[in-house]
Amino acid sequence: MAEQIIKPDLNFINDVINAGGESLKKCYQCSTCTVVCNVTPDDKPFPRKEMALAQWGQKDKLFGNPDIWLCHQCSDCTAYCPRGAKPGEVLGAIRKLSIEEFSVPGFLAKMVNNPKFLLVLLAVPALLYILIIASQGFFGSVDIPTEEGKIVYGKFLFSLYYVDTIFTATALFAVFSLFLGVTKYWKAMAAENPNTKTGSLGNAISATIVDILGHNRFRKCEVTKGRATAHMLVFYSFIGLFITTILAFARVIPEYIHHLKISESIDVHQLDWLAYIYKPIGNVSAAALMLGILLMMSNRFKNQEKAGLGSYYDWLFISLVAGVGITGLLAQFLRMANTVAAYPTYVAHLCLVFFLFAYAPFSKMAHMAYRTTAMVYTKHSGRDAE
Ligand code: SF4
Ligand code: SF4
Repeated sequence: MAEQIIKPDLNFINDVINAGGESLKKCYQCSTCTVVCNVTPDDKPFPRKEMALAQWGQKDKLFGNPDIWLCHQCSDCTAYCPRGAKPGEVLGAIRKLSIEEFSVPGFLAKMVNNPKFLLVLLAVPALLYILIIASQGFFGSVDIPTEEGKIVYGKFLFSLYYVDTIFTATALFAVFSLFLGVTKYWKAMAAENPNTKTGSLGNAISATIVDILGHNRFRKCEVTKGRATAHMLVFYSFIGLFITTILAFARVIPEYIHHLKISESIDVHQLDWLAYIYKPIGNVSAAALMLGILLMMSNRFKNQEKAGLGSYYDWLFISLVAGVGITGLLAQFLRMANTVAAYPTYVAHLCLVFFLFAYAPFSKMAHMAYRTTAMVYTKHSGRDAE
C-alpha cells in the first residue's frame, strides 16, 4: 500500500474550534454518529470521517466534500455521541468556514459572520435610505406627510423607482456572488473526487428539487423532529413572499411604461387587480414565516442540551428573518392606522430586507445554494441513488 503523508493545517483546526466546533478534539472515532445518522448515504457515510478529517486539519478534503452540506444538523449524532463531541455542530462550523472560503468577495463573508461588524453592515442600508429620504425633502416637512389623510410610503418617503432600483441591484449582486461561490464549490468537489462516475445532470437536478420540496432528507431526523416542520414553514413562506414580490412588481409595470415615456396613454392602474392576489399571499406567507421562525427558536431552546443552542451564524439568520417578518407586518398595520410610526418602521423593514438579501451569499442564507449544489453533485455522481 502506498505511503501517504498527511500535512495537518493547524490554523484550520483552530478555525473549526473557534467557529463553533469547540468539541472537535473529544472525538475518539467510535463511529456511533455515523450509525445513528439517518441522512447519510450507505456509501462512504458521514460524519465520523469528517470528524477525523477535521481533527487532522484536512481543509481541502473537507471543503471539496459534498457530505458537509448533506448534513441537516438535526443533531441525532450529537445526542448519541458518547464523548460529547457534537459532530452536528462541528459540521455546522465547517460549513460556515466553507462559505467564507468560496465567497466572492471573501472579506464580506468574514464581516457578516463576525458580530463586531454587525452595526457597520447595518449602517450601509440605513445611510443609503437616509440619504434618499433627505434628498426627497421628507425631513423638512413639519406635518406627517399624507395623501388625503392616508400614509403612502412610495409618495413621501422615497419613490418606488428608488426602492426597485436598490433591490434589483441588490438581487443581481447576490445572485452573481452566489453563482461564483457555488461554481468554486463544484470545482472543489470535482477536484477532490477525480474518478467519480457521473450520470445525467438533468435527472440529478430534478431529483434534488423533489427532495427539497418534500424535505425528504430533513424529515428523517429524529432527535429534533420539529426542525423539519419549522424549516418547511419558512421555506414555503419564502416562496410565497417571492411570488408576492414578482406580482407587486408586475402591477407597477404600466407605471414604468408611463414614467419612461414608452407610452404616455397607458392606463397606469390597469394591473391594480393583482393586489387582490398578492396581498393575501403576502400576508399568509408572512404569518407562516413568523410561525416557522418561532418554532425554530423554540426548538433550539428545547433541544439545547442535546443539540446545542447554535452559534452567531445561526442566530443572525434566525433573527434577521424574524425582524423582516415583524417589521413587514408592523409597517402594514401602522400604515393602515395612519400613525407616524409607520415611516420609521418601513425604513427599518427595508434595511433588514437589504441586509438579508445583499449579504445572503455570505450568511447562513447561502445554505440554500450550497446544500442544493451538494445534493445535485451527490446524485449526479451516482453516490446517492435516492
Ligand atoms: S463524534 Fe462522537 S460518535 Fe462520532 S466518532 Fe467521534 S466520538 Fe464517536
Ligand atoms: S447532524 Fe444529523 S444529519 Fe448531520 S451528521 Fe449528525 S445525524 Fe447526520
